[in-house]
Amino acid sequence: MRILLVEDEKKMLDFLRQGLEEQRYAVDVADNGVDGLHWALNFSYDVIVLDIMLPGKDGLAVCRELRNQHLITPVLMLTARDTVDDRVTGLDCGADDYLVKPFAFRELLARIRALSRRDSYQKSTTMTVGDLILDTITHSARRGDRIIDLSTKEYALLEFLMLHRNQVLSRTVIAEHLWSYDYAPDSNVVDVYIRYLRKKIDDDYEEKYIRTIRGTGYQLVDPDPV
Ligand code: CA
Repeated sequence: MRILLVEDEKKMLDFLRQGLEEQRYAVDVADNGVDGLHWALNFSYDVIVLDIMLPGKDGLAVCRELRNQHLITPVLMLTARDTVDDRVTGLDCGADDYLVKPFAFRELLARIRALSRRDSYQKSTTMTVGDLILDTITHSARRGDRIIDLSTKEYALLEFLMLHRNQVLSRTVIAEHLWSYDYAPDSNVVDVYIRYLRKKIDDDYEEKYIRTIRGTGYQLVDPDPV
């Protein structure tokens, strides 16, 4: 899951970036509205966290422009102000949710989780495909009775595959959502992580969930689609 964070207060930006990276998100940052808009329009994000008061271009203008360009990525607005007018203006600009500073980091995480599953099958904090269960809060996985330990990237990869179950995902799309710009890997790194993940969730079982789509990428197959 890849997040764009647009915030001009350096202390806040560093705190949020570190906290989100600890939660296994890939994070890109911008400290003004012009750069934020550029990043949002040119790279793929799962959620954009956007401060309202920004130099260059404020968060409301950035959000409006994203929606004018038909970008549908969920936007969570951050603001120091809390009036009904401000909330309404934010939502009217196309923001999906609104968080007033100061806020508890846990609340930010919960809202990011809610936004990132907005359009997916997942309406709870666990995701299930067949007998495979992923807990998005504890970052642990289970297949049947067996607990599966996952590294940071294995978790992020499995979460992304489960969110987009039954879709064929190219290596490029997977890489774009798992790594931030600073850490962008060669696309064959995706193959390496798929191999690690298969070893943990598929190799010992007759029923395989991860399917290779020759020439394209990968697909996580749900045996009981909703
Ligand atoms: Ca600000």
